[in-house]
Amino acid sequence: MTDDDWSALAAYIRRVADELGLRDWELRLLRDPPHATDDSSHILAHVNVLYGRRFASIKVCTCFRGESPDDQRMTIVHELIHCHLDQTAQVISGELLDMGRLCQSEYNAIKSAHHRAIENATDAIAVAVAARLPVIEWPKPAPAKLARTPRRA
Ligand SMILES: [Zn+2]
Repeated sequence: MTDDDWSALAAYIRRVADELGLRDWELRLLRDPPHATDDSSHILAHVNVLYGRRFASIKVCTCFRGESPDDQRMTIVHELIHCHLDQTAQVISGELLDMGRLCQSEYNAIKSAHHRAIENATDAIAVAVAARLPVIEWPKPAPAKLARTPRRA
């Protein structure tokens, strides 16, 4: 993606975030590619919400612009909805483990089930909401330079 593409995507994220009730959040688009946290080989995007703050960083894969406009919109909406729901995951990860009443396998089972439930809820909300939001308008690519025709002597 070009610098103009990254700027357009950052502005789009801000616009969609405002529509999703995240006006007071600071959102930073990072250019590092997202890394899968499990065995899946490819993820399109990832959001990291900073605990206790209204701040999140978002990463997208380098192939993001090549996705369909609908998929781009769904991906951004999905990641932004995580900003609302991530605090529950942080409660599971932090406070539940800190209680010290669960063995590791019980904790892992609860955390995994909670993660799946959050992903399902995030997807369902994203499907319901995304169609009401605009797709991103990417900058037009620079016109190709005309090839110079060698002059004849
Ligand atoms: Zn997700």
